[in-house]
Amino acid sequence: MTSQKTDCLIIGGGLAGLTCAVSLAEKGLSPWVLESSERLGGRAQSWRDETTGDSVDLGPHILLSVYSNMLAFLKRLGTDHLIHWQTDGVIHQVSGTETYTFAETPLPSPMHLLPSIWKHPKITAADLVSIRHIVSLSLGLSEREIHEFDSMTAAELIERAGSSPAMKELLWDFISMSLLNLPSAEASATAFLRVVRYFSGTKNLLPGLAKVGLGELFADQSVKKIEEAGGKVLLRSRAASVDMNADGSGVVTLEDGSKIEARTVVLALAPQDLARLLKKEQQPPGLAKFETCPYLSVYLWFEGMVSDRAFWARTYHPDDLNCDFYDLSRFRTGYEGRGSVITSNIIYSNRVSSMSDEDVMKATRRELEEHLPRTREARLLHWRVNRVPMAIHCPRPGTESLRPAVRPEGKTYILAGDWVKTGLPSSMESACHAGFLAAEEVLRAIRPTQAPEKLALPVRGPGTLPHVMARGFAAVMSSRSI
Ligand SMILES: Cc1cc2nc3c(=O)[nH]c(=O)nc-3n(C[C@H](O)[C@H](O)[C@H](O)COP(=O)(O)OP(=O)(O)OC[C@H]3O[C@@H](n4cnc5c(N)ncnc54)[C@H](O)[C@@H]3O)c2cc1C
Repeated sequence: MTSQKTDCLIIGGGLAGLTCAVSLAEKGLSPWVLESSERLGGRAQSWRDETTGDSVDLGPHILLSVYSNMLAFLKRLGTDHLIHWQTDGVIHQVSGTETYTFAETPLPSPMHLLPSIWKHPKITAADLVSIRHIVSLSLGLSEREIHEFDSMTAAELIERAGSSPAMKELLWDFISMSLLNLPSAEASATAFLRVVRYFSGTKNLLPGLAKVGLGELFADQSVKKIEEAGGKVLLRSRAASVDMNADGSGVVTLEDGSKIEARTVVLALAPQDLARLLKKEQQPPGLAKFETCPYLSVYLWFEGMVSDRAFWARTYHPDDLNCDFYDLSRFRTGYEGRGSVITSNIIYSNRVSSMSDEDVMKATRRELEEHLPRTREARLLHWRVNRVPMAIHCPRPGTESLRPAVRPEGKTYILAGDWVKTGLPSSMESACHAGFLAAEEVLRAIRPTQAPEKLALPVRGPGTLPHVMARGFAAVMSSRSI
């Protein structure tokens, strides 16, 4: 049995662990990263498809222009320019053969999206007015106040706030499923208000798509930075147990029985992996409540071009399979002149887990044909279905209040991961934010006499004016009827 020593051991080589490791390397430490799988990137990983040689992601992702921590991480790695920003609308929503584009106008936030919502053929002036309470709550409440809604579902909040059925169907149910990954009847109202704040409180919100495989934006570049600083990245190295000391140091035992002693230990893991690693008494409270949300991600290689867009989504309907669609040939570097490579996500896929891959592919193709009739005649060259056990944790009522701090009370390990308390929806941005917060904690522990470092960029809230205006309104609403 061997025993090695390091200043900082990070368990988990996803976005959170690598953001932490790279920022520590830049601060002169030599962090070690343990990753159980054969490649880095975790849920944002990519690899080469065996048949086509194309880089495929575990599933397609978008980032948003408000992802300041993720963009800061990519900038450190020199890859922030490899994002294709969609400038012709926030979202292209399709229903049958119709497409409707929600786009910003020059009006200040939170009015900037309203004209576009109002012009929708299914929306009346009364529908539009009915969203005022939800928008006010999302913009006016502080982070602490938003937490008071965590025992309620998003659907309950939508009803109590008087939002019309048309707005629920068109907007709120879509936001809930696509961004919270749960139907509004099952999602926490706190988590819901946070994502509404993103859209109503932020101007110039652009969706971004990686021009290369998602993992190619950060995996190899992180290894280079870590190794240049004298650190190590150990792949196929699963941590089997962790013994923490009161001073924050710890001993990590790997599956092969080898041990690593570390002055600080960062657990950059998804909740279910953390639950497997830590004994019950070591776990942050409520860990078992973080249920996994599975996805199926479908890839279809066509002979010719079948789409005119890079990214679009179906209007939410409970019987649908897919939510968001992408044509990689519209934004990936080097795909010019090729046929469409369409990829899509079936979110919260428990309901279709018994379908075979082939049936999933055929059903996805049928959904695509509704919107893109050209697909019917197009020759399908190749396809694959990725079964993803977890995209994010299910943000059910009660879970928002359970999200632990990076330094959970009474624990001496440091946490990172998209699900820790960042004030953000579980996402790549939350993972990077948590990675920076974890690095701040490591530096505090290793250099206690130095001034604390500020690495994480603050969560961007709504501007002062929308916040102050919405606040008065929201306070009245929350105390009276909601
Ligand atoms: C299909 C799909 C689509 C998504 N779409 C979006 C999107 O559009 N926008 C967005 O912002 N987010 C999206 N997400 C979510 C996003 O990918 C995650 O929020 C983010 O990648 C989480 O990063 P993380 O570092 O917190 O966790 P992870 O990526 O889970 O990293 C944890 C790492 O720890 C490793 N590990 C586990 N146990 C051990 C152990 N015992 N020892 C050593 N290593 C271990 C794992 O292998 C993994 O690599 C999507 C996710 C999926 C899967």
